Amino acid sequence: MATPVIRSNDTAEAPAPVPGASQRRIVSYVLPVYNEADGIENFHDRLFQATRKRPDLEFEFVYVNDGSRDRSLEILEKIAESCDGVRVVNFSRNFGHQMAITAGLDYARGDAVIVMDTDLQDPPEVSLELIEAWEGGAQIVYAQRRSRKDTPMKRFTAHAYYRLLHRFADIEIPVDTGDFRLMDRATTDLLRSHRERNRFVRGLVASLGFKQAAVPFDRDERTSGETNYPLPKMLRLAADGVTSFSTVPLKMITRLGLLTVVLAVLGILYALGLRLFFPDVSVPGWTLLMIMVLFLGGVQMLSLGVIGSYVGRIYTEVQARPLYIVEKVVDHGDGGQQAARTGA
Ligand code: UDP
Ligand code: MG
Repeated sequence: MATPVIRSNDTAEAPAPVPGASQRRIVSYVLPVYNEADGIENFHDRLFQATRKRPDLEFEFVYVNDGSRDRSLEILEKIAESCDGVRVVNFSRNFGHQMAITAGLDYARGDAVIVMDTDLQDPPEVSLELIEAWEGGAQIVYAQRRSRKDTPMKRFTAHAYYRLLHRFADIEIPVDTGDFRLMDRATTDLLRSHRERNRFVRGLVASLGFKQAAVPFDRDERTSGETNYPLPKMLRLAADGVTSFSTVPLKMITRLGLLTVVLAVLGILYALGLRLFFPDVSVPGWTLLMIMVLFLGGVQMLSLGVIGSYVGRIYTEVQARPLYIVEKVVDHGDGGQQAARTGA
């Protein structure tokens, strides 16, 4: 069960469903776990109870143990023994929440995949509403927080950040959504083809497009333990969100450069004017000094901006994201629709 697997850059093959085992549609849960020993059993019980309301579906629970330093793995293995459909993917060390989600998506084999936190902040019952929206035709359903019971500091930073991201990023990332969402098989596979290292999963999902629906919910408090996103980790994720979807910060250097050049020209004119028309006021040597400082400052800033715009291009190239995503191709010639695919 807990064989060490290293997943970094390769696209893992999801195991094929057992043929003929079941005609029911499969819904997979991707459940990242990091030091959740105190609450994980409780979480699984509640999730399992919730899924029993849908006997017409088959459920799969993919727990990804992200290098927990407590008894989480032991408890997960026990859960896997006593409960059908539970799989545990164990990381060799802590790779972070976003990588845990990525691995979970690689291993999930459901027709729909739901990503949710394991600290009961995302109420398991809400996932049933996500499933209903999926059955109603949505391919990506994200749970949108109507309220959250976090500290005022976290509430404020999250609120400000989602709005900032909304303004900066080149794509529409819905505000107030975390990673709690459902994706169908086609969009899951597309997301799996994005293999960049600095991942901001919810941004990647938003960038896929497709029919996306929102289900509002109230975010609960953590039932046990404390947040595994201390400020430095949160800031890193926040920076990943901006830098992986926007080169605005780079473009700002160019603007700053242009502004500096304009100011430098004004400064140079002022210094020259002073030298020519008020020679008694100006200190000897000052004019030349001013001209050089301002000129060099302006040129440097502008050059940085030019370099920045190339770095920006290099950056988007090395991300090597698919260039476009085709939802489907209807081809009456070979009599059918092809699944969604990426074009590189
Ligand atoms: N998590 C993880 N790896 C980490 C940090 C967190 O897998 O390095 C998991 C954690 O177990 C939880 C989810 O990611 O299920 C969200 O983490 P947390 O609740 O600490 O974040 P918050 O809700 O405070 O933003
Ligand atoms: Mg949490």
